[in-house]
Amino acid sequence: MPRITLPDGSIKDFASTVTAGEVAASIGAGLAKAALGAKVDGQLSDLSRRIDHDAKVSIVTAKAKGATASDADALYLLRHSCAHVMAEAIQRVFPDVQLVYGPPLETNFYYDMAFPYGVSISTDDFATIEAEMAKIIAEDRPFTRYEMPAHAGLTKLKKESSKFKLDNAERAIEAGSSELSWYATGAPGTDWEDLCRGPHVPSTGKIGAFKVLSLASSYWKGDETKDRLTRVYGTAFATKPELDAYLAQVEEAKKRDHRVIGKQLRLFHVDEMVGQGLILWTPAGAIIRQELQDFIGAELKRQGYFQVFTPQIGKLDLYKTSGHFPYYQESQYPPLVDHEQLAQFASEGCSCAELANKMKAGDINGYLLRPMNCPHHIKIYSSQQRSYRDLPVRLCEFGTVYRWEQSGEVGGMTRVRGFTQDDAHLFVREDQVAEELQGCLSLVKLIFETLGMTDYRVRVGLRDPNDAKYIGEPASWDKAEQACRDAARTLGVPFTEEPGEAAFYGAKIDFIVRDVIGRSWQLGTVQVDYNLPNRFGLEYIGSDNKPHRPVMIHRAPFGSFERFIGCLIEHFAGAFPTWLSPEQVRVLTISEKSEAYGKEVLALLKSRNIRATLDDSNERIQAKIKVATDWKIPYLLVVGERDAEKREVSVRARGITENLGAMPVEAFVERLTSEIASRAKDLGVATRQGA
Ligand SMILES: [Zn+2]
Ligand SMILES: [Zn+2]
Repeated sequence: MPRITLPDGSIKDFASTVTAGEVAASIGAGLAKAALGAKVDGQLSDLSRRIDHDAKVSIVTAKAKGATASDADALYLLRHSCAHVMAEAIQRVFPDVQLVYGPPLETNFYYDMAFPYGVSISTDDFATIEAEMAKIIAEDRPFTRYEMPAHAGLTKLKKESSKFKLDNAERAIEAGSSELSWYATGAPGTDWEDLCRGPHVPSTGKIGAFKVLSLASSYWKGDETKDRLTRVYGTAFATKPELDAYLAQVEEAKKRDHRVIGKQLRLFHVDEMVGQGLILWTPAGAIIRQELQDFIGAELKRQGYFQVFTPQIGKLDLYKTSGHFPYYQESQYPPLVDHEQLAQFASEGCSCAELANKMKAGDINGYLLRPMNCPHHIKIYSSQQRSYRDLPVRLCEFGTVYRWEQSGEVGGMTRVRGFTQDDAHLFVREDQVAEELQGCLSLVKLIFETLGMTDYRVRVGLRDPNDAKYIGEPASWDKAEQACRDAARTLGVPFTEEPGEAAFYGAKIDFIVRDVIGRSWQLGTVQVDYNLPNRFGLEYIGSDNKPHRPVMIHRAPFGSFERFIGCLIEHFAGAFPTWLSPEQVRVLTISEKSEAYGKEVLALLKSRNIRATLDDSNERIQAKIKVATDWKIPYLLVVGERDAEKREVSVRARGITENLGAMPVEAFVERLTSEIASRAKDLGVATRQGA
């Protein structure tokens, strides 16, 4: 009879089969009451699930004892259960709606639905739907699972004429399910039900705090040629304060959206005629990018890197050797076929389908828009003989690469089709790997510290031994993975090891940064690679006068400028530190009488390489301040007649509404220059003025 092992290692023997809920009750009444589900041998399950074998069982509650955050499994159960309640409520309000698919997500859930012709839902309906949901939750109906053999289940679904659910069921059967399961919210046969694998919380009363969030349109199976669906988003949390905190975060995220701020501050532009996902850097955005490039460029020189420049296309054979083609062709632009061969194909009467097949197979003389910079740098390394004394060879390039993202996934600066990496490749001896990794990690840390992104976690990406995409020998993978593990350990921050997260050629260390409103971004990366040196037959001559194979380190501390700056815009909500601000100072004249002095101040600022402008228009000063404030400029210098006489400026710092008072213009310029040179995170002139 089942012997149950609990998370603390203690063991409970039961005389007959037992449900997870009964296991909870045997531990304590409090736990049984708080229980939302259980993990049985690692698998998330209903509390009603019957256990007939020896198993490891842990009870899922909203917040595990001593934990600060809600339990991810608990949220999964709550949200999936709430999706059922929302679907039932929507079908009460719109009886002919057909349900498609409703999964829980990291912070919310959605349900895709097909509305009958001429019927549509709007945000005005949310209050009615939420009221219906509240009723269902107050009734505290149990989620009741029942099963049917596959064939009988399909017959039932056909009778109910639900083509979407029928398709879900057919796919489950294709994937090997011998039976189908339903969850009734209450009693099977009488209450609302949904074809569903589960699991769920025990009853609707456990759902806690919920909200219907938003609407989006989608297509059945993500295919634009199939049925148009409405995606209704909602969320659920264990408690109201948690829900409120999440809603506040969503509001804050909307305000910080880099697509919105990018437009307001004219930082970048995307033009349909140029193409989706291809960023046009406008002057203001280009300043930020250039500042970041100068910042890291100086550091690279100090660390002994050499700058190289290489073309944005390369022959297909280059990428066949590296393995990028054909393995990654789904995420690349199709190859470019050269003129002679196109003419030849045409003269041979080659059909479109034949050409498409040749391109897919790579049977063409052609070029690829590069998906990565590595192969070009490898060819620079191998262009001359290298001795062990030459290593490490560190080659860096702000290299632009192209990837094919599905059109539905392209947006803003964070999902793009062309981007520039702050890329570098280090060709090192095996005994140099550890030290060079340290150098790469210190660069990433320096960047994050300078920008005040100090809340990050580290992920060591390992290969998944069952996945064929990872090229190379197990022994060299072991070495690469160990090097990453050892390097991550020296960082002094917690890290996780995640199989399946490695690049196809090597293990890596990724930095996942939490921004000021708690969202995670994967930014910097450092990768150890034993494989590309093999595929390209790279060598150096050792002290024994024999050829040896170098190891490659790939690293990009920012990742890409596009993604990094998209993230920075949201992190700072457009209010950049002075050194990064496209416009650092604006001089505002009070009247015509101070115009000449205003020009003088502007000239002085410019002579010190400060990015400044002058507003000497006839607007009233309050109106000028309002306009300048909208541009999020760090400093406004108001100049009037008295300031001119005393050679002073009245300083206003961003985020501080009152005038900080007058100070000698020379003193302001001195302080500002040192604030910029030190790449200060805060507006230092303002704080020192106050002190
Ligand atoms: Zn379900
Ligand atoms: Zn690389």
